[in-house]
Amino acid sequence: MKRIILFGAPGSGKGTQADKIEKEFSYRKISTGDLIRAEVYKKSVIGKKIEEFSSKGLLVPNEIIIEMVKNKVLSDDIKEGYILDGFPRTLDQVKGLSVVPAEEEVAVFLRVDEDVIVKRILSRVSCENCGKIFNTIFRIPAKVNICDQCGTTLTKRNDDTEDIIKKRIIIYRAETLPVINYYRGKGNLRELDANRDINTVWEEIRELVK
Ligand code: AMP
Repeated sequence: MKRIILFGAPGSGKGTQADKIEKEFSYRKISTGDLIRAEVYKKSVIGKKIEEFSSKGLLVPNEIIIEMVKNKVLSDDIKEGYILDGFPRTLDQVKGLSVVPAEEEVAVFLRVDEDVIVKRILSRVSCENCGKIFNTIFRIPAKVNICDQCGTTLTKRNDDTEDIIKKRIIIYRAETLPVINYYRGKGNLRELDANRDINTVWEEIRELVK
């Protein structure tokens, strides 16, 4: 079983590229952000507990998120492999990952400039039903504000505001850059320039993960 890890700041395009990998190969996308939003949306017990963190742009406690990822990998019918989008985000989560099965691992870092991040996030809209991500400037849905995939009305994430983005970037620098450096140190990190358009980045990622 193969594990593909996508690293990158908020808005670097991890979710979009994970969707493309899932569509092209038989690897399953596991987005911790999507898992969290689904629990919050359902107003489940865990959803109520984690909303106080995610709505403010803070990281959800490690033990909760590690458990969610582990359960997802073990419960889903994953045969060929899986793509992690948004996990691991802390060094403790890297430790947690050691109990999640994988025979082979590819880690990819989507490097992106901060001004690009902010612009992308402020124009991002997504589908609460199927998770597909759009952008009102460069990834416009065929019908205004309607998901191309399932027809649901698109919404803005409540953590995609200027203030919360700034906080998420600060947390990314403090908590996740050390994780990226750790993978770089292990010599198993592929890095690419993700300031470029979706398809150019995709052409490179396709070669790295196949
Ligand atoms: P994302 O969709 O990846 O931008 O994640 C949205 C929010 O979910 C983050 O700002 C965090 O509050 C929470 N979250 C997602 N992944 C993780 C993680 N690996 N560890 C802790 N919190 C997370």
